[in-house]
Amino acid sequence: MFNLLLFGPPGSGKGTQAEFIEKELGIKRLVTGDILREEVRKQTELGMQAKSYMDRGVLVPDHLVISMIRERLLQPEYQNGILLDGFPRTVAQAQALDAMLNGLGKRIDLIIVLQVSEDELVRRLSERLTCASCGRTYSANDRINRCPYDGTILEKRSDDQPDVARKRIAVYNEQTRPVLDYYNNRVRIVLIDGQKSIQEVKTEIIGKIKVDYASELEK
Ligand code: AMP
Repeated sequence: MFNLLLFGPPGSGKGTQAEFIEKELGIKRLVTGDILREEVRKQTELGMQAKSYMDRGVLVPDHLVISMIRERLLQPEYQNGILLDGFPRTVAQAQALDAMLNGLGKRIDLIIVLQVSEDELVRRLSERLTCASCGRTYSANDRINRCPYDGTILEKRSDDQPDVARKRIAVYNEQTRPVLDYYNNRVRIVLIDGQKSIQEVKTEIIGKIKVDYASELEK
């Protein structure tokens, strides 16, 4: 059992690395942004409530996101470990998560933080193309217009437009960064240089988890 939090600003590579971690280590991902986009697409009640916040690049209210996570934490697929990507994004969410995990006799084992400069984040987000079906992201520099996995035409996420992207980075600095202070001294936090190549970052993360958490991964 190994519960991991993948942390970092928008564009830092969380989604890309989360996919590798899931594939290589078999830890199931829970990606709040993907779940919310799916709810918006299906026009569920939650999706309709969340959309206006997402379009503006601000956070969806805590109570909506927390109840969405609460339901999922109980699902069988997450009982052998979980990889959280995009949650918690506020201190209130972190407190709620702790309470939920406590109730289940679980805890966060490790927080990995991907560090990338603000200029680089804006550059990456402005070039980012997304597959609306599987959520994988690519760069305009990859010179592909369809997702190699499922053939879906790639799109620019509306909240990756420069104004909204900058807002999301500001929201990260103001509301999400304090989550690290909340966990400091209670959970192990590992900082990773997210400006290295995708492969280098992957090797560093997977290597660290395999070496330091071998016994937890077996359970
Ligand atoms: P992401 O794909 O992680 O960049 O998330 C896209 C948008 O979904 C964010 O800008 C927020 O509006 C919303 N969102 C995702 N996760 C959360 C969360 N944990 N709390 C509040 N809003 C969230």
